[in-house]
Amino acid sequence: MRRIAIVGAGQAGLQLALGLLTHGYRVTLVTDRTAEQVRDGKVMSSQCMFHTALQIERDLGLNFWEDACPVVEGIGLAVPNPGHPKEPAFHWSARLDRYAQAVDQRLKMPAWMQAFERRGGELMIDRIGLPELERLAGSHDLTVLAAGKGDVVGLFERDAKRTVFSQPQRALALTYVKGMTPRSPYPQVAFNLIPGVGEYFVFPALTLSGPCEIMVFEGVPGGPMDCWQDITSPEQHLERSLDIVRRFVPWEAERCRDVELTDAGGVLAGRFTPTVRQPVLRLPSGRLVLGMADAVVVNDPITGQGSNSAAKCSKVYLDAILARGAATFTPDWMQETFAQYWDYARHVVNWTNSLLTPLPPHVLDVLGTATHAPGIAAHIVNAFDDPRRFAPWWFDAEVCQSFMHKHLSRAV
Ligand SMILES: Cc1cc2nc3c(=O)[nH]c(=O)nc-3n(C[C@H](O)[C@H](O)[C@H](O)COP(=O)(O)OP(=O)(O)OC[C@H]3O[C@@H](n4cnc5c(N)ncnc54)[C@H](O)[C@@H]3O)c2cc1C
Repeated sequence: MRRIAIVGAGQAGLQLALGLLTHGYRVTLVTDRTAEQVRDGKVMSSQCMFHTALQIERDLGLNFWEDACPVVEGIGLAVPNPGHPKEPAFHWSARLDRYAQAVDQRLKMPAWMQAFERRGGELMIDRIGLPELERLAGSHDLTVLAAGKGDVVGLFERDAKRTVFSQPQRALALTYVKGMTPRSPYPQVAFNLIPGVGEYFVFPALTLSGPCEIMVFEGVPGGPMDCWQDITSPEQHLERSLDIVRRFVPWEAERCRDVELTDAGGVLAGRFTPTVRQPVLRLPSGRLVLGMADAVVVNDPITGQGSNSAAKCSKVYLDAILARGAATFTPDWMQETFAQYWDYARHVVNWTNSLLTPLPPHVLDVLGTATHAPGIAAHIVNAFDDPRRFAPWWFDAEVCQSFMHKHLSRAV
């Protein structure tokens, strides 16, 4: 029986580990926190997942919260009007063809860890570094590192050609709340793009105590939404969140009148640099480790793609491991396996990075035009499930013109 070691019990590592177990592999999963520590800790993400990623979970029988979790049926966009700050310059929304859902990782990962052990996997709690990787790689047929943004991923060389930024591009914050007035006419990701300041988005989700809304703040570094350093308590964090909403997106403030934090762990603030790394690490012994998901391609959360991409990466890796049968996991196989994922992930990287710099006129034009072109709005919204649908028109003013023309002439 083939032995696979996986480091990291997040979306990517756990999903792969559980998938391999169902195919009879012996899987060792090593992670640095127990299920209880994850459940009792702080929120880590807003983890909104779209249909394709959710379907991968369903196919593996891992959609434990499908009935309990509120659904997100669409996405709305609002851009403020500099002359009239109390109302947006334009706003629109469109329905997703199929719903999205966000299950708090503090709920999901501990339950998946328990399922992994119940199904015969070996779970170890350890903080993995170089010596531990050597031990794992020496005793397993394949070692995969899915350690997300953990320090250990620094062992994988940064890919200078594919990495655009050398600094964090947003100051991030999360605030999980109860009591927010639901968005009408259907539950949606309300995405607000405030030029020069940052982005605010909010959507329904499931947390430890039941349904909630997750407020996500993406502040341009040094700007007025980069404002979390002096916060010392969850209550202050909530107050600062509400201050931002009242100041920059007042049309969202009314919905927040009765909000309260879900729990003291329902807040997070931080920042990181979007980075692509080389996928294969050669250890001093010559043994190899294959990187996956955030460990080797980490994007800013502005487009809500990380968990989606982790699920998709995990599927690519699972299929490749199964297809390998009893053959050795060679360096070429590792490079090819990552290349298959990169063929998708590069679109996510390009699109996400494009939103971190000031938007070019043709993109602002298409976003504004979507207000009265439902076909364009629907295309944009549904492309969150598969960002390949943003290419090439999002990146090329001329192609964008014909993309708009095609939709507008269809609408006549
Ligand atoms: C503010 C914010 C909002 C987000 N919102 C969304 C969203 O709406 N939609 C979306 O799709 N994505 C979102 N993401 C991104 C998403 O959460 C991540 O991309 C996703 O969790 C990555 O999964 P992963 O398995 O690669 O890594 P992770 O989920 O980070 O898992 C890494 C695992 O490795 C473990 N680990 C780390 N270091 C070590 C070590 N040395 N030894 C052993 N174990 C270790 C960790 O404890 C963890 O279990 C958001 C992220 C942030 C920060």
